[in-house]
Amino acid sequence: MAAVSFMIPQMQNALKQPERWNSEWENTIRNMERRFTPSALVNSLALTFAAQPLRRDASLREHQTILSNLCRTQAILTATAGTCFAGANLEERWMKASPDLRGKHILIGLSSACSIARNLHDARVYCGRELTLSHLRSDGRTVLELLKAVLLPEVAMPEEPKLLPHPAWDAFAAAQARGSPNDSEKYALASILTLRTKLICHVIHATLNSFVGVELPTVAVAKYNKKNNPGEPFLGREFGKSVVEGMLGVAGAKAQAKENKAAWKERQRGRTEHCSYGGCSKANDGSAKFSRCKTCWDNMQREILYCSAECQKADWKPQHKSICGKPLTFEAVSKPPPPIPPPSKPAPQIGPAVGNYERSPSLVYQIGWLNLNPKLDYVVRGGAEETNLDFPDPEAQALFRRCREKAMTTGDKQSIAIMAHFICWMTLDKPRFHLAAIVEQLKKEYVFDELPRAIHEMQQRQNKDPFRRPPLLAPMSPQNWVNFCKGMNVNRQVVLEL
Ligand SMILES: [Zn+2]
Ligand SMILES: [Zn+2]
Repeated sequence: MAAVSFMIPQMQNALKQPERWNSEWENTIRNMERRFTPSALVNSLALTFAAQPLRRDASLREHQTILSNLCRTQAILTATAGTCFAGANLEERWMKASPDLRGKHILIGLSSACSIARNLHDARVYCGRELTLSHLRSDGRTVLELLKAVLLPEVAMPEEPKLLPHPAWDAFAAAQARGSPNDSEKYALASILTLRTKLICHVIHATLNSFVGVELPTVAVAKYNKKNNPGEPFLGREFGKSVVEGMLGVAGAKAQAKENKAAWKERQRGRTEHCSYGGCSKANDGSAKFSRCKTCWDNMQREILYCSAECQKADWKPQHKSICGKPLTFEAVSKPPPPIPPPSKPAPQIGPAVGNYERSPSLVYQIGWLNLNPKLDYVVRGGAEETNLDFPDPEAQALFRRCREKAMTTGDKQSIAIMAHFICWMTLDKPRFHLAAIVEQLKKEYVFDELPRAIHEMQQRQNKDPFRRPPLLAPMSPQNWVNFCKGMNVNRQVVLEL
């Protein structure tokens, strides 16, 4: 009975009986791994997609929604991870935790993420062994590496999501690009890569939240009209019935289908319709009826809902006109829709990383704060508390910011040392700052284990300066320096244990 391997566990059991549900999944994945290659998965999805025009249209629309939701998910995850890495010492705590403890939180992450929506649940098929409990829990690095692979370079909505790399899928994608794939094949691959990345992001997010003891993330899911629901992904739908009948008999299969339908209705209850105009996106709280675009509904059974005539009008020219009543193409949905209104971007304080400098999650978090608050010079954590540093002297601030820019965009060790020494030196003798905690923080942000020695060397340089200027302020004129350090003990020194 080869078909048994297609059995997909029941989604509603993810929360009800997580252990059982998960071991069913691990069985399915083991069985599937032997017979399913990326090309078999893509081809099956492409075939069902091509066969039904209305479902194809709904799937394309859904794909674009998933792309923009994934962008949002990754921005939120990047912010969360930054907080956890910087504040909650996540990395050390996770590595020190036992496999059992890690496994407990990973299972919570898996079952919570897979309960968000049907398509995410079934996307475990596309993750294979990568998302099995035994694989994730055994070595702490596995989850941390997955997490780092999906983090964005800055805490902001990206224009496109960052897809999780994977040797087999990436090789398949390269082969597809060399051929001349049709729309169905392109859609099938893009949809699989997006969904698997999205599922993994949600699993990791929920796992982290569970581990550091904060509330699990909640994800709003749009309500679909039954008629235009793109439906269950191919495995559950196309092969599901005969497989389940083979396993449970006709009566058993019927009973299971009934259970699944009830669970689907239950999920629908928590969902709401949203206004299709990107500048509004209002959720329908039930107080008024949203109206749908008639042409789209009549021609394509495509449900485009608007909360008001104003929103419909506002959406027409920039977005809807080009697709109204016409079948969608893969090209039209292969990127998330541009945000409306376009973000008025203030120039960020800190530019993007240069060359192949890879920022640590803690540094991304620091930069996120600095870009949000242009007045800040640095966010320093002395113990648990965060304190904002800003340097009132304009010349000192300009010198600091120039050095900070180089440190944060290139990871230049010299700049990091000069800046770190200055931060330490400026906060000496102030009771709310703890030197050791600041050095630890900077070491982590720049992944710079030799930082204490580098700071020590900067202190030696300061001691040799005839005016006792810290290296950061070496370009300052002696006259300005005298003003700068009025009331300051310029002979104080940063002393670290080496
Ligand atoms: Zn609206
Ligand atoms: Zn329309």
